[in-house]
Amino acid sequence: MGRVAFIGAGPGAADLITLRGARRLAQADVVLFDALTDPALREFAPDARWIPVGKRGFCDSTRQATINALLVRHAREADLVVRLKGGDPSVFGRLEEELEALAEAGIDAEVIPGVTAAIAAAADTQRPLTRRGSGRSVALSTAMTRDGALRGGRSADTEVFYMAGRQLGALARRLLEAGWSADAPVSVVSRAGWPDQLHSDHQVATLGHAAMLHAGRPTVVTVGAGAAPLTRVMAGGEGGLKMERSVATPLELTS
Ligand code: SAH
Repeated sequence: MGRVAFIGAGPGAADLITLRGARRLAQADVVLFDALTDPALREFAPDARWIPVGKRGFCDSTRQATINALLVRHAREADLVVRLKGGDPSVFGRLEEELEALAEAGIDAEVIPGVTAAIAAAADTQRPLTRRGSGRSVALSTAMTRDGALRGGRSADTEVFYMAGRQLGALARRLLEAGWSADAPVSVVSRAGWPDQLHSDHQVATLGHAAMLHAGRPTVVTVGAGAAPLTRVMAGGEGGLKMERSVATPLELTS
């Protein structure tokens, strides 16, 4: 009987995997991998059997049951099965179902964390998710409920929405209903952590404008304190643009 290591591959390019993740991956006999993971990760385990089990967007329960069954079957035959997941396994990764399936079968599991998309987006855009004085809390939220309905919500100073890419206009309406002001900053990043990442800035009311730019790409939507740029672009007097560093107020410095 073998064991299973869940490894967070990070949200993008292969070098975002942790050192621990890369080392464990190198020991794998079988790798069950998601669609969003970088194919270059194969170089860490060239002799392992690589089996794609990924899917984009909302996954149905039949598919999940198949993945659970595959994990159990391979873990019974191999020494080490790696379940390679995009981003971090614990964030919208259906980890609980897979851990439970293994526990029921009496198979040992280990979870190695990864960089989740919200963190990679914050890094790419140099927008810290927490801000002294104005951003004390961060929420990771899915914009999609289990039955496929769209949800807004306002539970933190900075709220990062996953799985909203296809319905940004509708998300804007839900955010307004949830109490966000129409001019609250929104930062939209697709393919965070990849060389071709794209970023656009909006306000809640105009979030729908982001739809075309990010269409068909995995996208996170950051709303509130952590979405605000550190620099403000000011319209210059003679039609030019002037960059201005934002300066912390005394209140922010003392809080
Ligand atoms: N476990 C993953 C999330 C899986 S859910 C993590 O921790 O990142 C899939 C959703 O994650 C996508 O719909 C998208 O909202 C987000 N996502 C995944 N990779 C992304 C990337 N590189 N850039 C932006 N969003 C990404």
